[in-house]
Amino acid sequence: MAGLKLVHLYKRYENSGKKKSIQNNYAVNDLNLECAQGEFLALLGPSGCGKTTTLRMTAGLEDITKGDIYIGDTRVNDLAPKDRHIGLAFEDYAMYPPMTVYENIAFNLRAKKVDKNEIDRRVREIAPLMQVEDILDTMPVKLSGGQKQRVNIARAIIRRPELLLMDEPLSHLDGKARQAMRVEIKRLINEIKCTTVYVTHDQLEAMSLADRIAIINFGVLQQVGTPAEVYDNPVNEFVASFIGEPPMNIMETKIIKKDGNFFFTFEGSDLNIHVPERYYSVIEDGFKCKMGVRPMDLLIGDENSKGTPERIATFENLGDERRIGIRVGNTLMMLITENERRYKSGDIIRLEVRGEKTHLFDLETGNRIREK
Ligand code: ATP
Repeated sequence: MAGLKLVHLYKRYENSGKKKSIQNNYAVNDLNLECAQGEFLALLGPSGCGKTTTLRMTAGLEDITKGDIYIGDTRVNDLAPKDRHIGLAFEDYAMYPPMTVYENIAFNLRAKKVDKNEIDRRVREIAPLMQVEDILDTMPVKLSGGQKQRVNIARAIIRRPELLLMDEPLSHLDGKARQAMRVEIKRLINEIKCTTVYVTHDQLEAMSLADRIAIINFGVLQQVGTPAEVYDNPVNEFVASFIGEPPMNIMETKIIKKDGNFFFTFEGSDLNIHVPERYYSVIEDGFKCKMGVRPMDLLIGDENSKGTPERIATFENLGDERRIGIRVGNTLMMLITENERRYKSGDIIRLEVRGEKTHLFDLETGNRIREK
């Protein structure tokens, strides 16, 4: 098991032209990232942000434009994929149709001329781990998506890689199978304890699986941190709105001073939210920025509440939770509640906001404004 280190890594596709998703024509733009030995690191970002390209350069399947890649202490830039000691589980299963599941799992070891008994031992060791023991004699055509993906991962880990690279391994699965497989991947990684880099555009998948998440946009690393860090302390508006479902409410605000206290105010709305005191040294009366607050931090007050009366614009009942939309100026602010009451649009609630949980973002750059 080895760690991974990406140092000032760049990728420019010669045939890419000028694409909106590529900043300065780089699909990967000065990426510096480390994945510690045994760590599970998720690369998270929207489609086209450069996740797959990063993984493919790490695997040796794509040329590096500039920069260095180390697996353990070895600089692997010039090593062939087969010499990098990696396991690959990509989104397409790419199984060999004329071979059984057993033969598919054994294939790479056979190619390496590993002893037949050793291959058999390893296949039978991995099979229960991936819950494919009952389908070892089955042909790929007869497998479900979930089974194919289990075989795919079994093929990746049978070589006992130093580093496991997974690219959207669950993307072909539907909702339930996806959730079940996510749990299985978590269990598997706990058991095999392999350094893993996992590409996904699904923030929920990254939050539930990863030790740390690297969030990328336009080929540029935005933030890397534990799920709690990126959720509670996003460095900018992009990360704040990418992590969390429904996303953080982010609205333009003008801060005003009243009786020695500062409040967020919003055009076209009576809503006033207390600005946390820790920001007092970086704001002033009339300061304009964006305010972010998570839907969980908006609350429905009881009959004695001093919260602002707000009219419900939308109401969704999702079983465990209910989502309420409130129009603040020209944006819809989402609130999540476990309150059982079935509201309807037009109902009035007393809206309370956990002011201490608000974030401030710069209007121009989108960067988080930090308290001093
Ligand atoms: P997705 O989740 O959609 O696969 P991604 O984050 O993995 O997205 P990449 O596949 O790495 O993104 O693509 C990054 C950028 O590089 C995109 O703009 C993409 O169009 C471009 N790109 C990827 N492969 C090539 C290629 N072979 N030739 C030219 N441009 C490419």
